[in-house]
Amino acid sequence: MEYRELGKTGLKVSVLSYGASGLGSIYGTPDEARGIKAVHTAIDCGINLIDTSPLYGGTKSESALGKALKEIPRDQYYLATKVGRYAGGVSDFSAGRIVESMDESLMRLGLDHVDIFQCHDIDFVSLDQIVEEALPALRRLQEQGKARFVGITGFPLKVYRYVLDRTDVDTVLSFCHYMLHDTSFEMLVPYLRKKGVGMINASPLGMGLFTERGPAPGHPATENIKRVCAKAVAVCKQKGENISKLAMQFGLANPDFATTLVGTTRPEHLKENIEWLESPIDEALLAEVLEILKPIRNTTWTRGLPENN
Ligand code: NAD
Repeated sequence: MEYRELGKTGLKVSVLSYGASGLGSIYGTPDEARGIKAVHTAIDCGINLIDTSPLYGGTKSESALGKALKEIPRDQYYLATKVGRYAGGVSDFSAGRIVESMDESLMRLGLDHVDIFQCHDIDFVSLDQIVEEALPALRRLQEQGKARFVGITGFPLKVYRYVLDRTDVDTVLSFCHYMLHDTSFEMLVPYLRKKGVGMINASPLGMGLFTERGPAPGHPATENIKRVCAKAVAVCKQKGENISKLAMQFGLANPDFATTLVGTTRPEHLKENIEWLESPIDEALLAEVLEILKPIRNTTWTRGLPENN
């Protein structure tokens, strides 16, 4: 496993990191043991960054992680969680809620501090509230030792520049903007590098677009994006190739990102992802797939408040 510096934090993170959103859907079910094994497999394979949020499974992801992490020495992983987005479509970035949310997350996780504490999906609210109220509250929690570093996550790329023109953060987590058909995050890289911000990529499989199973119902991509991606999946399958392998290798090949989060609750997927990471990319197949995806190159969907898109 390769490790990279995460901006100016001093954290050396594994290039592949573990997205725990899926743990929320299996908490309390017979599959929970498998999910806990996936976390342990991740650590055993050298993954050292785990990302979660109280939003995932309505706090269940954090609770499942609390069980999984009990058996892992604290110096073997970095834990990132978030504030501001909760089950039922609730967004609350008020300073008071942030303080409560931090303590609730620490309790569920069974930890006394997290490594990265992030404002989750800031595109759903006024960015001025993020700058003036939420991030100062996170910095106070950092001063108290409850979080080592502070970050933001969001979908439309516009949000990052707005916030970073006005204040500092240690990390940004972007998703579905660096994958086979959409690499628009690249435009932001020189700006973020100059500021020394650690860059985390998520969802290199496009939240299911680049899997043989396909995106789940309700996936936010447009029908056209789904149709063209499905064509690329089918062409790979006809050739006996799994598009997820290509998508993983493509996403992880970019050295601008310190790490890329992939979500799975299946230990066998994790092992497969690490194997893929360590094998060379099929350049001919990549060229063919990129050609199929050309009509949707850098096209995306909107999310959050209209003014944030
Ligand atoms: P992803 O693109 O990593 O896709 C995950 C899907 O791919 C899952 O359905 C999983 O079962 C499947 N998969 C994983 N490995 C596979 C393999 N080897 N073969 C076939 N299928 C495989 O997207 P994601 O899970 O949405 O994102 C990863 C993580 O990033 C999340 O868990 C979360 O921690 C983080 N994230 C954060 C935000 C945010 O902060 N707003 C948004 C998106 C993701």
